Amino acid sequence: MDLALDGPGGFKFQMRESVTADGAWFEGAWGYHFFALNPLLLTREMAERAGIALPESASLKRMLDAPLACVFPDGTLPNFNDSGYTSLSNESAWYDVGYRLFKDARYVAVAKTTGRGLESLLWGSPEFTAGTTPPLGSELLTSSGIAILRAPGSDRTLAVKFGPHGGGHGHLDKLSFISYARGARQAADPGTQAYGAKSHSTWDKMTVAHNTISVDGKPQAESTGKLLEWNPGAQATQIRVSAGPVYPGVALERTLVLTAEYTLDIAEARSLDGAAHQFDWVYHNFGATGEHARPHDGCGGDDRGHGAGPGPGPARAGAVRDGAAERPGGAIRDGLRGLRRGAGGDPRGGDGARRVYCGDGRGTR
Ligand SMILES: [Zn+2]
Repeated sequence: MDLALDGPGGFKFQMRESVTADGAWFEGAWGYHFFALNPLLLTREMAERAGIALPESASLKRMLDAPLACVFPDGTLPNFNDSGYTSLSNESAWYDVGYRLFKDARYVAVAKTTGRGLESLLWGSPEFTAGTTPPLGSELLTSSGIAILRAPGSDRTLAVKFGPHGGGHGHLDKLSFISYARGARQAADPGTQAYGAKSHSTWDKMTVAHNTISVDGKPQAESTGKLLEWNPGAQATQIRVSAGPVYPGVALERTLVLTAEYTLDIAEARSLDGAAHQFDWVYHNFGATGEHARPHDGCGGDDRGHGAGPGPGPARAGAVRDGAAERPGGAIRDGLRGLRRGAGGDPRGGDGARRVYCGDGRGTR
């Protein structure tokens, strides 16, 4: 027990060093978050039965709370870093245990999403009160560097990433985002595949596989980004973030605004060293590729990424047809056609790509 609780890598170390202030596991991947929460919760159970007090266990509540703040409308979590599509319903047993420990009524709805299994029988709550699920607003996890933008009256949800790299499971994707709208995920992150696959390191982790900006055709460096502005509101939520030192001689910032009708993206890339740089604005949406781009009413461009916005160079767009290739838990099959924003531009100025995403692909579930 001494080793498990006080040893290097033991319970107290993990509670102190591996759980961020807002409750997310330091690796920034929800798969690993629950992979860690399971044995940590059970270690607490064993200690309790041995008569050992563990005040550090208070951090377990933060670990249960953080996913609730980040969940998409379909109950899955943004698959940032090396993570698949973690679904809260698959983790319901830990909310059953958590309700017994912390009596947070929000846990009841999650605990009840699936039948109560062995873990619930052994460690779960003897009874539930009526659960409450207050509507979710926009949420900011400052130390993890994740923001979830939500719009009342809509399922539009935007998960933005700007925090620490995430150790060996991090991706080179500062300022990237994953989105959900019209009943399905839209903007995609590759998450992870089997670690033995060569393309895990050459694609999953690479900048170009994410919805962000790459410079000079190279991946970003590991960095910690910075929150510059955060304005959650009743009708619209706005965030402004900096990528941090991801490229020498270049500054990257992004402003995103989410409403029930649209998402506004202002991506800013500036040369700081007087040299010319190539800035690529990359976006991946679930869907199937096709030839028939349909103009969208009310957008600066259309919903295929054509058109809108100033900035040097042509934008090349892959048409994204309505309909979903998206399958939670499965691989991204097709439709990942990146949009490259033109190269070059005034090296002393900036290349601001302004995009309005609306009427994006209607996913079927
Ligand atoms: Zn990723």
